[in-house]
Amino acid sequence: AKDKGENRYEMYTIEMEKEFISRLTIEQELRRALKDNNLYLHYQPKIDIKTGEMLGVEALLRWNHPDFGFIPPDRFIPIAENVGLIIPLGEWVIRTACKQNKKWQDQEYAPFVMSVNLSTLQFKQENLVEMIADALREADLEACWLEIEITESVLINYDREIIKKLNALKAMGIYISIDDFGTGYSSFNHLKNLPIDVVKIDRSFVSGLPNTNDEAIVSAIISMAHALQLKVLAEGVETEHQWDFLRQEGCHEGQGYLFSKPIAADEFEEMLRNKKKE
Ligand code: C2E
Ligand code: CA
Ligand code: CA
Ligand code: CA
Repeated sequence: AKDKGENRYEMYTIEMEKEFISRLTIEQELRRALKDNNLYLHYQPKIDIKTGEMLGVEALLRWNHPDFGFIPPDRFIPIAENVGLIIPLGEWVIRTACKQNKKWQDQEYAPFVMSVNLSTLQFKQENLVEMIADALREADLEACWLEIEITESVLINYDREIIKKLNALKAMGIYISIDDFGTGYSSFNHLKNLPIDVVKIDRSFVSGLPNTNDEAIVSAIISMAHALQLKVLAEGVETEHQWDFLRQEGCHEGQGYLFSKPIAADEFEEMLRNKKKE
């Protein structure tokens, strides 16, 4: 019993130490990761539910620390937001994603839209719109091949500066989608008045299918999207049953492990190559 207790104590301190190290040094480590190229993107396809065709891809940030190993974005992005590092990090993501998409277009794969996730805090960045315009210019990518995913929290306060930026991005030809839809506070008014193209139904509702409550919620979001003439995408689709339900309800696009996990650029390219050969 004594041994067990000691083990438990030891595990506890290791856990605490990990927490301590990461919180204390994460800013420094992230800066180094940016500099040393220990960050990279994974890509997850978005599929037309009716035809099975790939319409786009979402870029998801990955960090492989030489000592701590893989650190998931849910863990380091909130910290990056706290210390302001989300600004250079977010910029790196956009520039990398644009260049990658252009590279695939140059290799003559059928062009598709590249989505990047934007933190609400990035909208506080004075030159956000200019930075994105510059990223497109630098990559020589047309704006219509870029989409940004924002969460409902961007819209909560109806902040005039944020709305101005969204409208400017939209005017450039960039697509705008609302991520994690249904978990926040969007009102019909937001969806009607703001320059939004797509709603992404949050994974929590999709993974609940089949279940009467989640079926009702998912159906309602799809109907609402149809009524407002928005595109609707379901995230986190893992089963055939979920896919069939979504198709029957008229959901346009799906994304999830059923079709593909987020994968590295070379793996993704192999998938494109195989598709081209078909
Ligand atoms: P998100 O934007 O909602 O991304 C979807 C998350 O669900 C991803 O987790 C993805 O790997 C995961 N996922 C996709 N399909 C399935 C599925 O079928 N089943 C399950 N169980 N999971 C699935 P990931 O990559 O760990 O990212 C987590 C969150 O971190 C993202 O949620 C997003 O909010 C944030 N994030 C990731 N990359 C970036 C980035 O470049 N910038 C910003 N600001 N946030 C990012
Ligand atoms: Ca997303
Ligand atoms: Ca999401
Ligand atoms: Ca999320």
